[in-house]
Parts: sequence; structure tokens; C-alpha cells
Amino acid sequence: MATAGVDEAHEFDVLVIGAGGAGLRAAIEASSLGARTGLVCKSLLGKAHTVMAEGGIAASLGNVAPDDGWEVHFQDTLFSGKYLNNWRMAELHAQEAPDRVRELEQWGGVFDRTPDRKMAQRAFGGHTYDRLVHIGDRTGLELIRTLQDKAVHQGIEVFMECTITRLLKADDRVCGAFGYWRADGRYVVFTARAVVLATGGGGKCWQVTSNSWESTGDGHALAYDAGAELIDMEFVQFHPTGMVYPPGVVGLLVTEAVRGEGGLLRNAEGERFMERYDPKRMELSTRDVVSRAIYTEVQEGRGTPHGGVLLDVTHLPAETVKRKLPSMYEQFMELAGVDITQEPMEIGPTCHYFMGGARVDADTGATSVPGLFGAGECTGGINGANRLGGNSLSDILVFGRRAGDGAVAHADTAPAPEVDDAQVAGARDELDDLFGGPGGEDPYELHAELQATMQSDVGIYRDGDGLAKALERLEELQRRAANVRVPGGGKSFNPGWHLCRDLENMLTISETVTRAALMREESRGAHSRLDFPDFDADWGEHNIVVSKGDDGMHVERRPVVKESELAGLVEQRKAAEAK
Ligand SMILES: Cc1cc2nc3c(=O)[nH]c(=O)nc-3n(C[C@H](O)[C@H](O)[C@H](O)COP(=O)(O)OP(=O)(O)OC[C@H]3O[C@@H](n4cnc5c(N)ncnc54)[C@H](O)[C@@H]3O)c2cc1C
Repeated sequence: MATAGVDEAHEFDVLVIGAGGAGLRAAIEASSLGARTGLVCKSLLGKAHTVMAEGGIAASLGNVAPDDGWEVHFQDTLFSGKYLNNWRMAELHAQEAPDRVRELEQWGGVFDRTPDRKMAQRAFGGHTYDRLVHIGDRTGLELIRTLQDKAVHQGIEVFMECTITRLLKADDRVCGAFGYWRADGRYVVFTARAVVLATGGGGKCWQVTSNSWESTGDGHALAYDAGAELIDMEFVQFHPTGMVYPPGVVGLLVTEAVRGEGGLLRNAEGERFMERYDPKRMELSTRDVVSRAIYTEVQEGRGTPHGGVLLDVTHLPAETVKRKLPSMYEQFMELAGVDITQEPMEIGPTCHYFMGGARVDADTGATSVPGLFGAGECTGGINGANRLGGNSLSDILVFGRRAGDGAVAHADTAPAPEVDDAQVAGARDELDDLFGGPGGEDPYELHAELQATMQSDVGIYRDGDGLAKALERLEELQRRAANVRVPGGGKSFNPGWHLCRDLENMLTISETVTRAALMREESRGAHSRLDFPDFDADWGEHNIVVSKGDDGMHVERRPVVKESELAGLVEQRKAAEAK
């Protein structure tokens, strides 16, 4: 089929964009319900960001701690999210995570074992009980391998190294997507009765990040451009422990499993400084608290020469470190020449995870735009103001499945998709026009300036002046980005061309983060305002929703979605924390 100069087109009932854990689980569900399902991803299958996950999957199986149950997991999730979470999402997540993990095992996933051969579970920050199912510190690899095998054997059609740049709409419905092949730059159109976004996060907007090249917030921007609402964008998680040295690996994650296995945090003076910030939970405090603590230690002059603090496992048997944390052992040995069984690691905060994303219905994954569904890190709601470690891998399984289900239910009654040639031509022209010859703006330079702005003014600590300055800077970068041009080369595997387009997404989502951060005049979870350092009771009842209006970006307050039957659990936890 030829559509407006595009020589390749495919039609599905359900199109899933993204092949991380969320996308794979959604595609498996849709296909197992009989839907013709297509799966598109911009990297190779099996290389999605999920593969990098290390520490584990949070699920209250109770294998190690028999007292654990979904209610405690739900309470932990809300406490960590500072009660801004969508309660229904947190409930479904906590209730269904154990079944999703058992299902992974039935599909061939292999996890570490307890002596009595149950799946082992480890401690993690903010979880009341040992809850994270894991395999050493390579859990994401096992998760993605298992889902990938299942998807391939189920016959799902996969389009890898294919980047989607626009969602296509018929009237108010999403009915497909437009993209290009990374290998040769040919254009491709997908039509579908329902589309699931599962594109992951956007850490590449910051200088120091644990995220891979893929994390440019494409799904957030695609959803926004299609008219969907985004929620909780001000909450960006800085993981407390990334590498700070050598320069080439700054930001690379040091898994929380290190602290889960007993790692101790010390400042350059040898002090276990968490005593000052959370004496109850110490190293196993929530990520927002530990990141701020490290940042403060360094700012106040108690940091290491490379601007970090020390994370120490030398008191553990070397054999345990190598067995439980094999990747960390190799990572420090090979990249920094440090044997972590003998010397402490130097670490500092790194931009890690987007709590915010497309606002979705808890049960079905439906966004506010008909025909568009979402799951995983590109959606918001479950985590509120701060995500608990381990909750993302369970989130992508629980809500990936639900979004696949929701998309099929929608596709069953949706009209056949119709392509609007003008939209396709527009999507094609915007990519072609980036080859405008010399004299334009350099995408690498603009990206570096964007990252510097977000790092300095929209980081762990923020204030009104810095956020206003960042907004001005973003507007200037957006003006310059309108004149961005491919620095050289043609359409074959040209990262300069790809970055020109990714930049537009990064600028859009950076603006959503900054505007929401400016509006929230309080400090809560991952959002810390120096000019509003305390919780505000009224803000504690509201999320911020961002959407695209005719006159630009709309930012508004919305009451937190609560469920009356869960109120008892929430009040019980609040009372326990107040003691
Ligand atoms: C180093 C590291 C360790 C982590 N460890 C843990 C952990 O132990 N436990 C835990 O719970 N969480 C962990 N996390 C977080 C967790 O891994 C992620 O939040 C989660 O894997 C996201 O899954 P996802 O399916 O939403 O997206 P991803 O896994 O990021 O997948 C996104 C997919 O979308 C595709 N894509 C993106 N844009 C486009 C586009 N425009 N067109 C086509 N395809 C596109 C990508 O190619 C990819 O296939 C970790 C994160 C990092 C960085």
C-alpha cells in the first residue's frame, strides 16, 4: 500500500509501541486474546531499557517474610509516593504483582532461591518486608528474556530498530502511527484499532543519568501531541547511587540491591550520615530522602574528591558480594579499577526514573484520547511523588497486561482505521526538512544545553527563580530547535538525524516537568523546592495535569484519585508514621 509517499504500511488490531517489559507484556496479552498484534521498538528486541534493571521485582509473595501481603505493599507504595498516588492503581499493582511474577516463572523465568526452594526475596529501600524477587543483580535481563521468548513463540510480529515519530488520528481517535527505519531511513505507516504506548522514560534530558540512549521521552511527547493528559510530571526520581568516577561512566547506576544486601553509606569523614536524615530506615530509606542526604553531605563539604560519598560492602564476605552483586563487582572492577570487596564505591545521585507520564485508567490503561492506551514508565499515577525501588518491574507486568487487555476490548468495537494522507505527509516532511543543508543549529549542541539547564535548574533541589530561568531557556532552545539541521550524512543509521527529532520530544517533556515543578509550591517526594521546603496540606490532595491546548501548554490541578474502601489502610499507615 502506498500512502502519501510512504512505501510500507502494516495493519493490526493492536499496535504496541515499545518492547520493554510493559510493551512485551501488553503485546503478549493482546495476542493471546486473539488480536492481530504488532510490536515496534527503536532498539533491537531484547535491548530495551528494562534489560538494565538490576535489583528486583517487588511482589508480596511472602516467601521470606510470611507477614507480607498486598495491603502492606499498597501502604508502602502510598507512603513512598507521599499519598499522591492513584489509589486504585496502587491497589491493583500490589494485589496482582505476585501472580505476574509466578506467571513469569511458569514461562521459564529463573530467579534466585531460598534454601527451601521458593523464590528468594531481598530487602529494598522503603519496603517494610524483604519483597524483591531477583536473580543476582541481573533481574531485568531475565525478565526481558522470558517475555521475549514468550512473545516470539506466540508469533507476534516485531518491527525492531523502527522509531515512531507521530501518532495518527481519525477525528478524535488514535488510529495508527508513523515512523522510520533506523537502518535506511525509509518511512512506514502502521494502522491499528488501538495503540498502546510503552516507550519508557526520559532521563536523557539531564546530564547525569542512569538511562540509556533510548530514554528520550518519546511516548510522553507522542501522547501529549495527540492530546492526551500527562500527570505528575514534576516528579523525576534521582537515584541516590550512580557512579561519579571515572568521567566516562558518570551516572551509571549502582543498584539499590547493594544497600539491600547490607551496603553502608558513609561520607568522606567516615560517618554513617543517614543517622541524621532517617535514623529509622538508615540506608534503606526511600530514594528521595537518600538522594537529598547525599546531595547535602557533598554541598556541606563532606563529600569525596569526585563529588560523591562512599558505599561500602567490604564488611560482607567477598563470596557473597560476587554471588549477589556480580554486575556491580564487574562494573567497578572493569570501569573504575575498584575491587568492591576490598574498597568502598564512590557514588552520587543520578537522574533515573519518571514518576509522571500519560494519565491512564487504572483498570484498562486507557489514556484520555480514545484508542490510545499506555503502560510502564511512560505513564503516570501509580507512583505519586516518589517510586519505590522494585515497583517498576512489577508495574510494567501488571499494567502491561491490563493495557493489552484494554486495547483489545477497545479494538473489538472500534471502526476500521482510516489514514489521513495529510497527517502522513506532515510527518514525512518534518523529517525530510531536517536535511536543510548547512547553517542550521547543531542538535548535539542544543541537547548539551538542554541537559545543562535541566541539571542545574530542574534537579534534586529547585526554586522559583531557577525554574523560571529554566523555562525561559527552554523557550529559547525551542526557538533555536525550529532551525535544527542534520549535521551531516544521509538517512542510513544517522544518529545526528535521529537526535534532531528526539530533541523535539525532550524539549516538550522538559517543559512539562518545569511548568509543573513551578506550579507545585511545596516540597514532596522527589520534588524539593528550596523556597517552599515543607509539605502543603492542600497540595497533598492534588496532582498536576499537563495537556496541549490550542494556545500552548495547559497546567492544572486535579484532586487525587482515591477509593473510599482503601481509606482505612491509608489512615492506618499515616497514624503509624506519625508516632
Ligand atoms: C540501570 C537501571 C536499573 C533499574 N533497576 C530496576 C529494578 O531493579 N527494579 C525496578 O523495578 N526498576 C528498575 N529500574 C527501572 C525500570 O527498569 C524501568 O522503569 C522499566 O524497565 C521501564 O520499562 P518500560 O517497559 O516502561 O520501558 P523500557 O524498558 O524503557 O522500554 C521502552 C521501549 O520503547 C521503545 N521506544 C522508545 N521510544 C520509541 C519510539 N519513538 N518508537 C519506537 N519504540 C520506542 C524502546 O526501544 C524500548 O523497546 C531500573 C532502571 C535502570 C536505568
